[in-house]
Amino acid sequence: MVADAPPESADVVIVGGGVIGCAAARLLASDHDVVVVERGQLAAEATALAAGEVTITPSYTDYPEVGDHALDFFHEYDGTGEFHYEDRESVELVPTDRVGEARRRSERLASEGYDVEFLDRDEIESRYPGFDLGAEFEAGVRHADTGFVDPYTFATTLADDATERGATFLTGTAVTDVLVDGETVTGVETDEGTIEAPTVLVAAGWRTPEFLGGITPVPVRPYRTQCIVLDLGTDVGEAFPMGWIPGKHVYFRPELNGDVLVGGWSFATDDPVGASGNADEEFIQHVADLAPRFLADGDRARFVNGWAGVDGATPDTRPIIDAPADAPDGLVVATGFHGRGVMTAPVAATLVRSIVTGEETDLPREPFAIDRFEDRSRDFRFVSISSGDESYEAD
Ligand SMILES: Cc1cc2nc3c(=O)[nH]c(=O)nc-3n(C[C@H](O)[C@H](O)[C@H](O)COP(=O)(O)OP(=O)(O)OC[C@H]3O[C@@H](n4cnc5c(N)ncnc54)[C@H](O)[C@@H]3O)c2cc1C
Repeated sequence: MVADAPPESADVVIVGGGVIGCAAARLLASDHDVVVVERGQLAAEATALAAGEVTITPSYTDYPEVGDHALDFFHEYDGTGEFHYEDRESVELVPTDRVGEARRRSERLASEGYDVEFLDRDEIESRYPGFDLGAEFEAGVRHADTGFVDPYTFATTLADDATERGATFLTGTAVTDVLVDGETVTGVETDEGTIEAPTVLVAAGWRTPEFLGGITPVPVRPYRTQCIVLDLGTDVGEAFPMGWIPGKHVYFRPELNGDVLVGGWSFATDDPVGASGNADEEFIQHVADLAPRFLADGDRARFVNGWAGVDGATPDTRPIIDAPADAPDGLVVATGFHGRGVMTAPVAATLVRSIVTGEETDLPREPFAIDRFEDRSRDFRFVSISSGDESYEAD
């Protein structure tokens, strides 16, 4: 239900109607009175601007249950309303000087049960006709458990489901304060009135730390990241994989209409509100230079459109999904999704539900716990996941 005015009370108030707020609302609404308060429109910030890549399995090889949980959800949810999950394998391009490391890593991951395979240049070019590797790339690592979604459709489908289960969505309404009595949350103040609630989930994206102000320090800082869409003069077809290029700040995936979306070029920003929503000319030029070095039709690439958005970064690139021990009882935080919030939303929703209800989950808590950071200040060094450097292991 979309409400015009805040209700007097709820079991759970969710601050922020991005993909995380919508996913959490859906899982809680079956047995809680849930109100989602969104300052603007639903899913209109980072969520709407995302590339929609689901590469969570390669991102959590230290916690396989995290990737499995998300993928099981996407497969099961595929076909719900307008939502579609497109299974598509990914190829990490391997520069000539990284072949040994990439081969060893692929073999190790395969021995651990991952569907990962090292492919040499000939195998890449025969399996993926859209590829033509130049001298600097010698091979690829193929990851099978990846895919993509339309992020806006995903979030609004979650919100529709949450509504059907009884959740209320209040848009165009900002939460101005979390209300606390002693050691306990009692609700929120909005610019339209007060909502009393024993539980408040703050899923306000990169704004979360400032919003929480003095209540609890959250080591999340804003960063700006970008996408452009290229028309290669041909429909790249169903054999065209997703992928990323370590060291080049670039990842890519096909669009369902045959274009190619290229994302990356992510940098911390101190001006998230004033940051341009357009892709940088420098990024467009970088991709124009790069495309012919690995794509058969790369020199025919025509720029279709581009954009930039802001997300929240953490020091180790993983989100914070927790009820901080130093915060009042009833306060739950889900933020810092660091370029992976769409793919992590099913995991975040399950963890939030487990925190709120005390129900068991097979998901690990420790990679998402706020106390993994000894230093919770916000002046940490930003690590770009699209640089791809984090996928390298020591030789
Ligand atoms: C260009 C780009 C590409 C990306 N590509 C991918 C990708 O391929 N795959 C992937 O998984 N992720 C990707 N991401 C990251 C992903 O978009 C984010 O991690 C995810 O959307 C975060 O969701 P969220 O709900 O935490 O934040 P948001 O979508 O930012 O939502 C937070 C909401 O909180 C609201 N809010 C804030 N303060 C208040 C307040 N005081 N009161 C009420 N409401 C408030 C905001 O208006 C906003 O709508 C990308 C991001 C960008 C920008």
